[in-house]
Amino acid sequence: MKQEADLLVSNCRQLLTLQNPSVSTRRGRLLGDLGLVQDGMIAAYHGRIVAAGPESKVTEQISFTPGGITVDAGHSVVMPGFVDCHTHTVFANYRLDEYEWRIAGRPYAEIAKAGGGIAKSVSDVRGMSEKTLLAVSRKRLNGCISNGSTTIEIKSGYGLDLENELKQLRVIRELDRLSPVTIVPTFCGAHSVPPEYAQDREAYIDLVVNEMIPVVAKEGLAEYVDVFCETGVFTVPEAERILRAAVELGLKARLHADELSDVGAADLAVRLTAISADHLTKISPSTVVRLADSSVIAVLLPGTSFGLPSLQFAPAREMVNKGVAIAIASDFNPGSSPSESMSMMIAIACSHMRLSPAEAIAAATYNAAFVVGREREVGSLEVGKRADFLILDCEDYREIPYRFGINPVRQVFVGGRLWSREDA
Ligand SMILES: [Zn+2]
Repeated sequence: MKQEADLLVSNCRQLLTLQNPSVSTRRGRLLGDLGLVQDGMIAAYHGRIVAAGPESKVTEQISFTPGGITVDAGHSVVMPGFVDCHTHTVFANYRLDEYEWRIAGRPYAEIAKAGGGIAKSVSDVRGMSEKTLLAVSRKRLNGCISNGSTTIEIKSGYGLDLENELKQLRVIRELDRLSPVTIVPTFCGAHSVPPEYAQDREAYIDLVVNEMIPVVAKEGLAEYVDVFCETGVFTVPEAERILRAAVELGLKARLHADELSDVGAADLAVRLTAISADHLTKISPSTVVRLADSSVIAVLLPGTSFGLPSLQFAPAREMVNKGVAIAIASDFNPGSSPSESMSMMIAIACSHMRLSPAEAIAAATYNAAFVVGREREVGSLEVGKRADFLILDCEDYREIPYRFGINPVRQVFVGGRLWSREDA
């Protein structure tokens, strides 16, 4: 029997299906397999993919509903929407002064002393009404979508008290309600110790564990919990205490790990069977091997090194060669990575981490979907998944990193519908 379809996308010069026979993260040599189909076609019905493959084959498989929509991709690249699995999109203001200070070489400690750093974003969020925070965040979310992200994880972590963490999480929930894209909420109350607890960090951790996490879990405001485990932020035992408390209440664990120093945070992720360990700029070679033997996904954030600016990048090439499951995300935030462009992240990952364009694309779509627990919904163009896809202004997918600094996305489809700015 033929499959009914109400959306047909034809004339895809390169269709990147990312199809995979088994539902598991892509590792090693498999990472670079994009499931590329020349002259491909996608068919969808009620927002779900019913066929994706060579045009001749798809045409045979489907019966087109009268009144359905046909789209001519114009002989260009068509691929799954990006899954941006690590962002801090809900913030109040950019931190432009700080950017100039960093370029001029002022050390972070001095910038923090001058009122910059995470503490600046915390005071900005605390001082902004929920309504205004939602309005500025919607504008930024539109930027993410127009750059091709159709699934976006967003963390709290600029409130750092019960009231303002909940405010951020409610804004994230509202963004999900207002926008057709998929938003995945993460509680990151342990992003930093707020200034008022500088002399009593234990009391802040008690607040996170005993008050914030129970409320967040009870109100269903987050699916994940994330802790910034780093020298001068939260220690490994502190992170472990917070994550275990959250996991007990049904949240899934993630970590900002080994970014500025190798404190053993990635090993903690392995020990806790966390979903991901993110950053990993300073990970040791022996930890890479342990990560490869685990289910933990290494989320690499090339925009952060680029934006700091730093010449140190996570050892992505070594990770892939050793069999670590990697994903790429933007870390969109007002400090180190104020960019919502996943194609730019792919470009930096290719130039500075020596990933191939195909590997970087798979890490930014297929593998990233596992990080946010949406691997059966998004990340590839396979039968049954959401029809979230991009039509690019490119004839070859390698143009994504090669022509860095441009937005290659011509059209964004979310759940089978053409997205426009007015939707979000
Ligand atoms: Zn982050």
